[in-house]
Amino acid sequence: MLAEIISVGSELMLGQLVDTNSSYLAEKLSSLGIEVKRIIAVGDELEQLTEVLKESLGRAQIVILTGGLGPTPDDITREAIANVLGVPLVEHAEIASKLRERIAKYKGHIGASALKQALLPASAKPIPNPVGSAPGILAEHEGKLLIAMPGVPAEMESMFERHVKGELERRLGERKSAIAVRILRCVGLGESALTERVSDIAKRYANVSIGSLICGGEVWLRITVMANTREEAKKLLEDVERCVRERVGEYVFGIDDEALERIVGQLLKERCLTIAVAESCTGGLVTDTLTNIPGSSSYVKGSVVAYTEDVKRALLGVRAETLSTYGAVSEQCAVEMAEGVRKLLGTDIGASVTGIAGPTGGTPEKPVGTVFIAVADERGCICRCYTFGGDRRGIKERACKALLNLIRKRLLGIA
Ligand code: ATP
Ligand code: MG
Repeated sequence: MLAEIISVGSELMLGQLVDTNSSYLAEKLSSLGIEVKRIIAVGDELEQLTEVLKESLGRAQIVILTGGLGPTPDDITREAIANVLGVPLVEHAEIASKLRERIAKYKGHIGASALKQALLPASAKPIPNPVGSAPGILAEHEGKLLIAMPGVPAEMESMFERHVKGELERRLGERKSAIAVRILRCVGLGESALTERVSDIAKRYANVSIGSLICGGEVWLRITVMANTREEAKKLLEDVERCVRERVGEYVFGIDDEALERIVGQLLKERCLTIAVAESCTGGLVTDTLTNIPGSSSYVKGSVVAYTEDVKRALLGVRAETLSTYGAVSEQCAVEMAEGVRKLLGTDIGASVTGIAGPTGGTPEKPVGTVFIAVADERGCICRCYTFGGDRRGIKERACKALLNLIRKRLLGIA
């Protein structure tokens, strides 16, 4: 079944608003097995919206609109729907009386114009709004389903969950196909290298796609499968995931919404271990990320942002000789930083990161993006070197994720 999503609002045309409603709906519809063919944004202009709506109804079986359902004159969604259906707007008695009650109750705060929200295209049904006053609209047009919901994301989302989703499921009935999605979150290998390794897998199946995206220093491989039933989709997804893991498993640290810092936190907590970080080029990002997890105070003891050589020497005990012989961006310095912060703060684990975030400061031997990370514990100290691409922020994010991943591997005994 094909769907189109239309976002209504001049703020979208002015670049003042990011259209999150569409991405929310696209994800929900896809997971129901409804294929979203187009996402359209249009300003608060009656003629344009009417035209766009007609076109969408000509192509898709389901058209979902958000925005423009409020009481102000620029809210024109209900008029546009009435135009397309060729029916007048009529007052819905029950909604009108509820609105009159609200107007009386919040005297002076809600104007009489709110009554506009009781107007519905004659052949349409209201969709209850669990958190606001403007109801949604459900209409049928030549066998097509048309749904309009408020623009306010919280209202739209609760209306979708409570009332629209069930309606869509009911209509899908027998024609239902199931989609299953799994995100494999990776660090340590670049996007192109990862996708190259798995590119032939999707080709073996008719209904499988494997996409990739870069997200905050990680690469996400997104496997999407389509099948006739939920069980078939689940089984197919498991097969494909296994194949993908055979190729790139060592870089996969988690799935779906499993954040790396949460996994690391969980491991530290389970083992009753504490950690301290010595950060140079990441400027505190690793500690910021670790402490995004509630309750992280039970394992993060503290950190030192040692940006200059002075501080590396004075606070972390990095030897002057190390700095003069090998430089601050070196394996030796990373190791001394990790051991230094472990000793300074008396933790089980000391981690460190030092590198060149650029855009200046690179040399032929150590180009911009060169990063050393180290993890020290009772067993000793391990160090890794990477050369990351990207801009200053990108390099910091990748360095941060690489260090968290090395900590994870060390805790699991695989590094
Ligand atoms: P209201 O009754 O509040 O006027 P409405 O249905 O008329 O609701 P809009 O006026 O279009 O909705 O939007 C209200 C607010 O909702 C916007 O100012 C914006 O903050 C948010 N919003 C609208 N559309 C979107 C969208 N596509 N994505 C994210 N937020 C949106
Ligand atoms: Mg509005």
